Amino acid sequence: MTNDLSAGFGTKAVHAGQSPDPSTGAVMTPVYFTSTYAQAAPGDHKGYEYSRTHNPTRTALQDNIAALENGKLGIAFASGLAAVDAIVRLLKPGDELVSTNDLYGGTYRLFTKLFAHYGIVFKFVDMTDIAQLEEALTAKTKLVWVETPSNPLLHIIDIKAVAALKKKYDFTLVVDNTFATPYLQQPIHLGADLVMHSATKYLGGHSDVVLGLIVAKDESLAKQLLFIQNSAGAIPGPMDCFLVLRGIKTLHLRMKQHCENTKTIAHFLQAHPKVEKVHWPGFSSHRGHAIAVEQMNGFGGMISFIIKGDKGADARNFLSNLKVFTLAESLGGVESLCGHPASMTHASIPKEERIKAGLSDSLIRLSVGIEDAADLQQDIEQALSKI
Ligand SMILES: *Cc1c(COP(=O)(O)O)cnc(C)c1O
Repeated sequence: MTNDLSAGFGTKAVHAGQSPDPSTGAVMTPVYFTSTYAQAAPGDHKGYEYSRTHNPTRTALQDNIAALENGKLGIAFASGLAAVDAIVRLLKPGDELVSTNDLYGGTYRLFTKLFAHYGIVFKFVDMTDIAQLEEALTAKTKLVWVETPSNPLLHIIDIKAVAALKKKYDFTLVVDNTFATPYLQQPIHLGADLVMHSATKYLGGHSDVVLGLIVAKDESLAKQLLFIQNSAGAIPGPMDCFLVLRGIKTLHLRMKQHCENTKTIAHFLQAHPKVEKVHWPGFSSHRGHAIAVEQMNGFGGMISFIIKGDKGADARNFLSNLKVFTLAESLGGVESLCGHPASMTHASIPKEERIKAGLSDSLIRLSVGIEDAADLQQDIEQALSKI
């Protein structure tokens, strides 16, 4: 039953890719700390030769995520950005990649500061407006990069509408599914060719590991990416794969709680007299609400908001006064985190670009954890009362 695609999400999260260890019966996938594997005769092996190419703990994780995302194959990397790097390596000089303009800062940096030197052309458009995306597409567009919900403004991009453009243009559609996870959004069902994850976030779920994953919809892309994984070598170690496999076993339970707590906090912030604006796709007033309802099974665990009349100082004060929320980079762990995108996660985006994209100095981002919502709400209340 482990790889039964008709099984429910929770069953796949717990079992897909895993079966008791054949040599001992160990129920949990062992952490195979080995770089190499004995061969009975030259070339006579059990499918494992060298751990850059294959490691059983990594195989279990790759099979697990492939089942959750309904793809052909999972490919694991040392970090989310190593996964992004592998995908861009599918391109050649002169090829164009069109991406959303409020992209994760590290992805933007990798595109513009590293890959731009190799003759790949990057375009950034507001993909909440499909007409803008279509205007940017040319015969040279090989990849379209979607991140939805986006970071940190929670813009929603219509994946189906982007995929529909593949009828007219010949591109590979990539969705960074880090914020939603396959529990809330399954891009391959919506027309994506590749799904990418920073498993460092919700998939790992406990802020104790850095890892990246790609799921390919078809065999041909999967083979190219496996070749890049083995040739460039940015693989995760077996312990990291084990930690993410363990994290994924509770993904469905955690996401339910993240969504529920976030809804409570979003409504609380929205009603607070000191709060100017709350970005959360669950509000019917949110620009992408209807699309989110259509393509997601919940609104996720992220919120961003702006304090009334703030020039940035109040935001900093608020963040320093929170006690249950930890001021830190990252998101998606069981514990609540808060951040200041302008000086933290998005500091690598030039100020002009940042402001244009709506990332003001007074924007606060919350990754709402799975603690008791009442405690989270009280923490925000006391920190707001101090400004
Ligand atoms: C964190 C993150 C990444 C990068 O992943 P790392 O694991 O930090 O390398 C990419 N995209 C999104 C949306 C992220 O949140």
